[in-house]
Amino acid sequence: MQPPIPDYLADILDHVRDDDGGQSADYIPELRDADPDRLALALCTTSGHVYSAGDGDVEFTIQSISKPFIYALALQELGADAVDEVVGLEPSGEAFNELSLDDNDNRPVNPMINAGAIAVNQLINGEDSSVDDRVEKIRDLLSRLAGRDLSIDEELCNSEILSADRNLSIAHMLRSHGIIHDEAHDAVLSYTRQCSILVTTRDLAVMSATLATGGVQPVTEERLLTSEVCRRTLAVMSSSGMYDGAGRWMAGVGIPAKSGVAGGLIGTLPGQLGIATFSPRLDSSGNSVRGVKIFERLSREMGLHLMAADHHSVPGVRSITRDGDSTVIRLQGTINFTAAENILHELGSHKLGGSELLLDVSRVTSFNRMGRRMVKEGL
Ligand code: GLN
Repeated sequence: MQPPIPDYLADILDHVRDDDGGQSADYIPELRDADPDRLALALCTTSGHVYSAGDGDVEFTIQSISKPFIYALALQELGADAVDEVVGLEPSGEAFNELSLDDNDNRPVNPMINAGAIAVNQLINGEDSSVDDRVEKIRDLLSRLAGRDLSIDEELCNSEILSADRNLSIAHMLRSHGIIHDEAHDAVLSYTRQCSILVTTRDLAVMSATLATGGVQPVTEERLLTSEVCRRTLAVMSSSGMYDGAGRWMAGVGIPAKSGVAGGLIGTLPGQLGIATFSPRLDSSGNSVRGVKIFERLSREMGLHLMAADHHSVPGVRSITRDGDSTVIRLQGTINFTAAENILHELGSHKLGGSELLLDVSRVTSFNRMGRRMVKEGL
């Protein structure tokens, strides 16, 4: 059977195709001259099924979408306490390239703005690492996340370096506060090479889905990150991933996300999906105009808003029957705290007879730790 999903995705692209609002990044020729009409959408489920429409296999530079993944790599390599020493967790409400640090402790406020991402980049492979070794470690993780060997757009990277005055001033500022120790030029080179890694929209959907599974790349099935690291990364994406547009985004779309200046955009639904779009024209916050529109529509039509309380859930107890001397309790659905409370409440009001109690969990889709503990202890 051919699933109807690719047609649905193509239909969504057709709805935004004629929107030419916004402007491509124009601070370097490589981005300014990129075809602004490119348009792609890809989804990857946590089971590793990938669907795409439009220019899903066209490569572009990952740019700031690398930030959450390299933050995750730093958390994984050094642990949260060490990472917290150089970067905070609060939304900045400022542009991505703002020269700003926290007034109290001089750390960049979060890892999604450039100051935070440059500081996090410097944590990879140890303080004494060469730029090449550090970037290779980064490229290796991103390649494993994508499930293929990714390359660096050297020409674009060189061009960025020639116009990197702003990021250089950020690196000098970080150095003057002892947040980074490398030469400012090397720190910016390392960060810019990270941003210049080439990906496709399909790659990004799979990478995003790896955060959704809690760290297992759903196509290759390789475990790359721990679930704690993914949870924290997604939390930071939800509060800061869309820069000074983050609040509006969470209200309208409600999916942890990250945008990049080349026009890429990812969204991650924990436990469900990785989504990615590509369209180069950006709004004033640096987020893809058509990408945002696609996400708004997907969120609305597919019911993806994480804060929505309107999803249908089945009661935890499917049936309670008597079979000879046994009482058979059939459970169903997802057993979390709320479902377990409902089950215990239901059992408490039921007169259970016989000498044996049988619990049938064949229709339970998943137990979380709390749900399992409550049902066990309740019994
Ligand atoms: N390389 C870009 C920069 O540092 C990345 C920014 C972005 O994608 N928002 O300016």
